[in-house]
Amino acid sequence: MKLQLFTLLGLVGVCTLLQPAMAQDKKEIKLPPEATEFYEPEVKVVKPGQENHQPPADAIVLFDGSNLDKWESEREPGKAAPWKVENGKFVVVPKTGGIKTKEGFGDMQLHIEWSAPTEIKGTGQGRGNSGLFFMGKYELQILDSYENDTYTNGQAASIYKQHPPLVNAMRPPGEWNTYDVVFTAPRFNSDGMLVSPARVTVFHNGILVQNNVTLKGPTEYIGIPNYVAHDDKLPIHLQDHGDLVSFRNIWVRKLD
Ligand code: MG
Repeated sequence: MKLQLFTLLGLVGVCTLLQPAMAQDKKEIKLPPEATEFYEPEVKVVKPGQENHQPPADAIVLFDGSNLDKWESEREPGKAAPWKVENGKFVVVPKTGGIKTKEGFGDMQLHIEWSAPTEIKGTGQGRGNSGLFFMGKYELQILDSYENDTYTNGQAASIYKQHPPLVNAMRPPGEWNTYDVVFTAPRFNSDGMLVSPARVTVFHNGILVQNNVTLKGPTEYIGIPNYVAHDDKLPIHLQDHGDLVSFRNIWVRKLD
């Protein structure tokens, strides 16, 4: 303790001695404010949507209310997505399997709107369950978590079995929820070793629920996640978990 106090007093003394010299040095540096301002490269102009939830001009629209042309069957790639489009939204058709985008994506900003069925059926994980899988591997849980108990790291807006959401921002069944997500894909070197893990930030109904969390690996229902090298662009999947979850207004901005 004595030694620490002595060291502290010594440091204060040295700093006091140095102060005039430092002040003098500072005076000699005469940078104009322009020295730290740059103009190149220019920042691209992007026209935002009329409302913040609408796709901006540089977005890839994955569903605009009319058809599932950007999607295909998960079970039978190349075949049409087997879910039902009606009234500007699409709905899971249970037991037909999931759907996935025809195009692959890596780093992205994503907007999606979803609604749990108005009629409550089931409990826990059996109530309004679906999921959005980035790169077909990393699940952002979709679940009716409105007054519905389940394990915290499996509720809506969790990174399934890895990160519970910071809060439960769920709207009641039948109302539309939004997810706004920033996803950073994992990087692997040419030997297939993980260089940097996937990261994700999520806003649920405008509320921050995942703050740049690091993913431990692909989503596992049982067992410990473990990264295995994969392509840098892969489709987005939506899960058929047997419940009549609805979706609308889905768009992506590529960030890589
Ligand atoms: Mg799910």
